[in-house]
Amino acid sequence: MKVLIVDDTNTDRLLLKLYLGKLGYQVVEAQNGQEAIEQYIRHSHDLDLILIDVQMPQMNGFEAVKAIRDIQEKEKQEWFPIIFLSASANDNDVEQGIWAGGDDYLIKPISQKILVAKMLAMKRISDMRRRLVDMNEKLEKIASTDFLTGASNRRAFESVLESEMSSIEENSNGLAFAIFDLDKFKAINDTYGHAAGDEVLVEVVDRIKKNLRDVDLVGRLGGEEFGIILPNISEDEAFDIFERCRHVVEEKPVLHEEMVISVTASIGFTIFEGHYSKDTKMEVLKHADTALYEAKNTGRNKVVEYQ
Ligand code: GH3
Ligand code: MG
Ligand code: MG
Repeated sequence: MKVLIVDDTNTDRLLLKLYLGKLGYQVVEAQNGQEAIEQYIRHSHDLDLILIDVQMPQMNGFEAVKAIRDIQEKEKQEWFPIIFLSASANDNDVEQGIWAGGDDYLIKPISQKILVAKMLAMKRISDMRRRLVDMNEKLEKIASTDFLTGASNRRAFESVLESEMSSIEENSNGLAFAIFDLDKFKAINDTYGHAAGDEVLVEVVDRIKKNLRDVDLVGRLGGEEFGIILPNISEDEAFDIFERCRHVVEEKPVLHEEMVISVTASIGFTIFEGHYSKDTKMEVLKHADTALYEAKNTGRNKVVEYQ
């Protein structure tokens, strides 16, 4: 655990440092509010707790904590506890400390037992919060992912499509949007079984993802139909990427329990360079679908751009 100790009185600071050091805490120090902010910025990535005095020259503890909480919010940094250590037992000071962003206010002189007990209580809250944040991230991931293939699900995918359409800048490339559909997939299920069909879906999504940039996104629109978003891309580049996607599916068969399953895909895509609205989004989906329909009707296993 890394603790920042802020106190202008050298003896107070050194005693605290010695004591916490003995207990195995890593300690960084500051002598006033301004230094506290600087030390916080330097160590924000792995700081677990701040113990801070109130009365200090230049900038007092209240002002420093307010500034630190502001930075924390602006930079979306992890929450961590801040405890005031002050000689003033004035009710107004305690109140002001909590308003400034402190989580506790202890009055000097503080017994080492009480200090450690308070630090333990804060650590408990901090751990609990960490677990909540982790759990929320996991739930968010589950809620936006297709369980079988690991692609984005339709809801999450469409929301990315909306934000990508909204963030296209003047004089820059538009985005490419494709609908990607496996050819005669029903026959694969009928011939090799549903489990084999599932495996094909997983493998195909895998191959396509490996073929895309980090900024691109694959989403499952339903059944054996997927959407692909390529932000900030020219028409020619988009065609090449989709052609490669088509190719990596056809290139080698999927193997499932001794079965060798050949599969191909048809891709319809459109380039979008305008402004986002509900109507333009519907248009993009419709245009890609029209192009896909043409790919299906003119022999399958091909990439068609909407004209
Ligand atoms: P086309 O080339 O015209 O696209 O023909 P198709 O057979 O691929 O199209 P169709 O829409 O007739 O059939 C799609 C099949 O995909 C039917 C459905 O059972 C199957 N399917 C949809 N979702 C899943 C899934 O999660 N797992 C498996 N194994 N099959 C699925
Ligand atoms: Mg199909
Ligand atoms: Mg289909």
